[in-house]
Amino acid sequence: MKHLRLDVVTMSAAALLVAITLIAMTPVAEAARWRREVVVVRDHTSGSRWGPIIVAEIAALNAALPPGAPRFVYRDARTIPCAAIDRNRRAISVCSIDRFARPAATSTTRRNETIREALIVLRDDQIRLGQSRVCHELMHATTAIPDAYRTEPESCVRGSRATFGAWDIALLGSEYGARR
Ligand SMILES: [Zn+2]
Repeated sequence: MKHLRLDVVTMSAAALLVAITLIAMTPVAEAARWRREVVVVRDHTSGSRWGPIIVAEIAALNAALPPGAPRFVYRDARTIPCAAIDRNRRAISVCSIDRFARPAATSTTRRNETIREALIVLRDDQIRLGQSRVCHELMHATTAIPDAYRTEPESCVRGSRATFGAWDIALLGSEYGARR
């Protein structure tokens, strides 16, 4: 959250306007949103390493969202394997796997432009990149935006920023802003 504030302050208003305008001009057709007041993020990861990172990035996410958007709430849930997660819950579930078992990934279930549930699979061997990994997957889970690596420098989902950048904030604004 501290990083986020700093970046917003140091970024010029003109750059922010350009980012917002670009997104307004080229809507991301694949994007979607949650339509609930509160979305619970259930942390099923093993050990205690991911938890504080997830808590911090959810705080940054809530700070990045416009007024009227859902509030994302962290819940420390018991550790269970990714394959055992009940995907019928209307929530974002987070689990973790050993290295190389399979790629880190987020999948969402959606109906048209509404996200119904999401599963974030983190890789324990990527804990060093924890903040940017969690931000990246949270962007998938909250907007259903697909990957396009290294196409947007001011982004944690389409660039390599450690936390939400101007591009991410603009996308969140266009999905969750008042016009929707
Ligand atoms: Zn991705």
